[in-house]
Formats: sequence, structure tokens, C-alpha cells
Amino acid sequence: VTRHLRGERRPLRAPDRQRLADDLEHLAQFVEPGTAGWTRRVFSDAYRASRPWVAERMGGAGLDVSVDEVGNVVGRRHGTSGRRSGAVVIGSHTDTVADGGRFDGTVGVLGAIEVARMLEQSGADLVRDLVVVDFLGEEPNQYGVSCVGSRAIAGTLTRAHLLATAADGSVLADRLGDADEILAARWDADDACCYLELHIEQGPRLERASARVGFASGIVGVERLHVEFGGRADHAGTASMADRRDALCGAAALVASIEDAARRAGEGYVATCGRLAVDPNAVNVVPASVAMWPELRSMDDAWLADTRCGLERLAREVAASRELTVSIDTVSSDASTPATPWVVDLLRRHADALGLAGLELPSGAEHDARQMARLAPWGMLFVPSRDGRSHCPEEWTDVDDVADAVGILARAVVDLGREGPPPPA
Ligand SMILES: [Zn+2]
Repeated sequence: VTRHLRGERRPLRAPDRQRLADDLEHLAQFVEPGTAGWTRRVFSDAYRASRPWVAERMGGAGLDVSVDEVGNVVGRRHGTSGRRSGAVVIGSHTDTVADGGRFDGTVGVLGAIEVARMLEQSGADLVRDLVVVDFLGEEPNQYGVSCVGSRAIAGTLTRAHLLATAADGSVLADRLGDADEILAARWDADDACCYLELHIEQGPRLERASARVGFASGIVGVERLHVEFGGRADHAGTASMADRRDALCGAAALVASIEDAARRAGEGYVATCGRLAVDPNAVNVVPASVAMWPELRSMDDAWLADTRCGLERLAREVAASRELTVSIDTVSSDASTPATPWVVDLLRRHADALGLAGLELPSGAEHDARQMARLAPWGMLFVPSRDGRSHCPEEWTDVDDVADAVGILARAVVDLGREGPPPPA
């Protein structure tokens, strides 16, 4: 009888709800002074101060802790095979948006550490290594780059990303170090056998369906454009309606049109113009120019492409009829990333076994999992967000829900960790 077979007879400990609650509370104390909510942005002093604490918690869970070239905190539990390749990888992020909440990302990192503690206390001998990652800087930073750590690992962080510039003139690489060294954080193709991430839903669907847990069907594709209309500034009192070249009225047609396109398409289709820059932006002046950043999200890549084409066509028509200039650029264009079906099945099977009602749903939000999907089969578990609120101080998830999902995650890790090669994709 080999060591790992003996280990299989031992039952897996349940997650420790209080320990999770304490860890969530402790991490929430690292906040930027003078900010609202729970703000811990990447590169802030609060974030920097929290990293050694996360590393210490990983070490306490029996993990071999290191910080890689880009700044990811990585904890490894060695399997019995002695191979580093083919590890089961779990993780998320601990940075927040400005005025953010206490659960976005943190439940995935602290939940992953709890999984490691459960394995340790259960004396589970897994064949494969387990790797827990707290990815550096998942949220968009002042350089406009998101998922810095997971991009570096997945090999999707480019030199162009490292040269991205902030308003103060600094570039991303100034924060991270030598470019060649950072790009060496990239993992080999066979380093991971599977990537699993636990995260809050950040929307209302689980709560509305009374589901205790969600399984990501994938992460939506995102089309983001930069459209600029140029018109002419005129006196708002003396310029007649017929004489105007109002850039904002042109932009308004696009705002209404993409909302309409998403509403007509129905559930699973969203479109937003969250940012407009109006010049001169004065109450008594006809708007001379408007820059706008429309974005579209869906799992349906054909709809994204069609709607984008329609938006471009409309922008040109509007410009022609209103005597405006128009320019259209792509800010980013990401196709949808479907989750690996056998991983979704694995998570669902363990949720069923624990008696937890689950719901499969696409993720409308970006996650480190999108990057890790380049390396390995992947899946995500979601826990309900109260009232669907996220990226705000009101963000709340019940610790009982987190603990239940950690139970699913741990069982999935044990399954994957004991197996030889993962099932074929
Ligand atoms: Zn997140």
C-alpha cells in the first residue's frame, strides 16, 4: 500500500468557519487611510503591508511560500510524486478597487489557504502538488492594466503592458522591476493540471435563485471602444438649433442604441457607456467634443461582433447627418472564455454530494481565471453576493456560504490531486 492510498482512507476535515471569518476580518484591516470602504489597491502601502501577512497565513497552512518575479505570493504543498509539474492550482486576489468591499478576491485566497489547512489537518497525501496563488493586482490599476500577476504567470503580460503609463508619467515596470525578470514569472505549459477559483458572484442571480453556490459556464467576452465626436462650441442662448454641431447629441444616439441592443438581446447581454468626457462641459456652451468609451459584454461572440459593427455604422451616420467628425478605436477586444466542461461537472458533483443547490451562470466580471485558462483546464465557484452588490463598501457575502464553497473546492482538489492525468478535455 503506497502512502497516498493510506491517506485516501482518512476523511477530509470540514472547513473551519470561524477561522475563515477571522482571516477575512484580519485582512480587511489592511486599508488605505482616508479612503471609503475597504480600499487596498495594488501598489498602495496597505497592500504592500498585507502581503507578508498573506504569506504568513500560507506558511501556517503548511505551504512552502515564495514571492515570484512579478510579486505573486505562491504557496506550494508538495505531492507524493515529487514532480513540480501538473499541480492543482487554486487562488484569487487580495487587492481591491477604490472604495471597494471585503470579499471580492479575498474569499478566493483565504478560502484556498483554508483548503490547504484542511488537507494538512486531515493528513491527506496527494500525488500532485497543490499551489495556492495570491495574484498581484487583479483590479485595473493606475496604468490601466488588470490581472498583472495572472497575466505574468500565463504569459500574457507583454512589454507593452509594462510600458503602460500613469497620469504621473511613471510606467508599470517602475513598480515591478526589470522587464526581463518579470516576464520570467511565466509558467510552463505543463506546470498546472487544473485551475480552480472561488469568488463572490458580484451580481444578484444566485440570491434570486436561492442557490448556495454557482458554477461559471465561462467569462464573458468584452468589446471596449473609444469613440470621439467633434463638433463646434457655440453660445447656448444665441446659436439656433439648426446651426448647431452638438457633439453630445451625437454621442447620445450611441448611448441609447447600445442599451437598446442589449435589452433586445435579453439576459446575458449587457452594454454600458460608463464614461464620457464632454468639452468644454459648461452649462451655457454647446458641446464641442465628446469622448466616450462604450463596452459590450456577453458569452455570445457573434453578438459582440455584430453589435460593434452596428455601433460603428451608427457613429458614422450620426456624424454625417450632424456634420460632426468621428474617430473610432478599439480599446480592447476579448472573446468569451468558456469554462472546461469536465471541471464544471466535477464542481457540481461535489456540490450535489454536500447537498448544496447550485446554478450554472456566466461571469460578467473579469477574473484571474481568464488568464489561467491559457495554461490549464479551469472552473470557477461563485458564492452569493447580498443584493448583488460589489465593488462598494456594502459588498457582503455570508461566511457560511464561503465555508460551504471551500468544502466543495477542497473535495475537488483532493479528487484532482489523487488522480494521475486529468480526464481528457
Ligand atoms: Zn475579484
